[in-house]
Amino acid sequence: MTTFDDRVALVTGAGSGIGRAMAVAFAAAGGRVVVCDIDQERAAETVAEITAASGDDGRAVAVTADIADEDSVAALVETAIGAYGRVDVLCNNAGIIDSMALPADISPAMWDRVLRVNLTGTFLVTHAVLPHMLRHRRGAIVNTASEAGVRGGAAGAAYTASKHGVVGLTRSVAWAYAKDGIRCNAILPGATLTNIAEGATFDQAGAARLSPVLALGDQFAQPEQMADAALFLASDAASFINGAIVPVDGGWSAG
Ligand code: NAD
Repeated sequence: MTTFDDRVALVTGAGSGIGRAMAVAFAAAGGRVVVCDIDQERAAETVAEITAASGDDGRAVAVTADIADEDSVAALVETAIGAYGRVDVLCNNAGIIDSMALPADISPAMWDRVLRVNLTGTFLVTHAVLPHMLRHRRGAIVNTASEAGVRGGAAGAAYTASKHGVVGLTRSVAWAYAKDGIRCNAILPGATLTNIAEGATFDQAGAARLSPVLALGDQFAQPEQMADAALFLASDAASFINGAIVPVDGGWSAG
């Protein structure tokens, strides 16, 4: 049984879906959790769920932050350190989808936004948390990438490029700090039942071209199955796993 007693986890995008499941799982395993989301109400709901389950109103703290904004990220990490003194586990999980538009069709504005949140946002939070982890010579980072981080036909151009970037950043961090007590791994979720497509408008031509690949991933996961994988990678049971890019897709990518 994995334990996170006395450990502090910061989870981004923890107001919904995979991030909420991660936050709840870390708290259930004994950790204290910084629940970060751009949506204040959803972050508060996650904290309420953790408080109700643990009976401990100091077990989790909600922080409203936009990972795409440097000042917001600085305030997020300052609040986390102020609340709990350190960050042992960072789950860079917040992300948005694109319209599934192919490279010739995606608008530069959508490209910028998706890259800014999914890749630059992951970098900004990592960049702000690393000095604290380095000071303690301890830390585990788990990035939520995607199957679209290792293949070209599983999402639109912007999402695909952003998640390939997350995979590259994962390996860069893993390599750079391997001797400093810090590990960095990524999960590649298959299709998971969350709110990610809420309010999205899809490019019909792109969606049609992607549909043969997406159809292969028609087995849906629950967010808790992603959380289980993240907890393992963040735990001492994975102490020599560093730089791993782990599909959590029920076999989608195996075929
Ligand atoms: P979700 O929409 O249910 O949850 C994402 C959360 O991130 C939301 O609460 C949202 O408010 C928050 N968020 C969005 N932009 C933010 C920002 N700039 N700053 C802070 N928070 C922000 O979606 P999900 O499916 O749980 O997504 C979590 C991660 O999983 C994403 O990185 C996504 O790309 C990845 N993923 C999801 C699937 C899937 O099928 N659901 C598959 C592969 C990868």
